[in-house]
Amino acid sequence: MPLKSVEVNLEQVRANVADIRRRVGVEVWAVVKADAYGMGMERVAPAIAELVDGFCVFSLREAQAGRLWEVTGKPAIALGPPDSADPAAYRQQHVRPAVSTIEQATALRPADPVLCVDTGMQRFACPAEQVEAVLTAGECREAFTHAVRVEQAQLLKQLTSGHHLKLHAAATALLDQPEARLDAVRPGLALYQQAVTVRTALVEVHVSRPPVGYGGFSVSHHGVIPVGYVQGLRRGICLIAGQRRMVLEVGMQSAYVEIGPEAQVGDEVILLGPELPPHDLAPFWNSSPHEALLRLGGR
Ligand SMILES: *Cc1c(COP(=O)(O)O)cnc(C)c1O
Repeated sequence: MPLKSVEVNLEQVRANVADIRRRVGVEVWAVVKADAYGMGMERVAPAIAELVDGFCVFSLREAQAGRLWEVTGKPAIALGPPDSADPAAYRQQHVRPAVSTIEQATALRPADPVLCVDTGMQRFACPAEQVEAVLTAGECREAFTHAVRVEQAQLLKQLTSGHHLKLHAAATALLDQPEARLDAVRPGLALYQQAVTVRTALVEVHVSRPPVGYGGFSVSHHGVIPVGYVQGLRRGICLIAGQRRMVLEVGMQSAYVEIGPEAQVGDEVILLGPELPPHDLAPFWNSSPHEALLRLGGR
């Protein structure tokens, strides 16, 4: 048994995409940036290619590295700031760049750029007063915003009204908000719902004699798992024999977990899974579900 095993259920990922399609009724552009959130772009993207209208990456380089066009035959948008000023490089990979300045739009016009409008994120995005100028410079036919609230999607519509652009705003958080859907959605995290399981096993069990470990914790029984912060683990919760248990203290390559008196060496420990989704770990980690998924599941 490996120290930590990560299983990505591609059938579930496909079912998730199909479900999103049905729910939103508009185009779906699956976000596979950061190597598909660590799940492996070359594995995930082909599995859902026929179900999506296209993909989103962060940079042209990511699309090239993952051979996105070759393996899927679907176009992509690079959401981040342009990492090339050469429109031919984008066209060759069937990637359209997001642009937010007149300079970027002018240089990349032959690559059919997509305008990124600032509706509050204030990063890699065009401020309201320059929308007209950048649209003109890039002859853009499409615009998007990185939105976390419905009002931002509505603001995108206002700021680009009269231009007859294809518009999109919603990522995972706004999928169920009809007013945020516009002409397409860009889900990332939602692709992996119920689809990723990260496991390990107890390598030791102890009747505790407090204080235990570095921090001197105190429980009646504790176990040890061979996963630490090198493998992305943090203090929080895990599942042992179907029960939620505390991850008490995390070392570099191992961690202490709370166990019941019946636990045995070899018992399975779920660090992430359908019954312990990234959303449930995020509050303990003082972080986002995205980070929890990427840290624990990422390669
Ligand atoms: C990462 C990202 C998304 C996807 O976000 P999720 O919350 O994972 O669905 C959508 N749009 C932009 C611009 C992004 O950077």
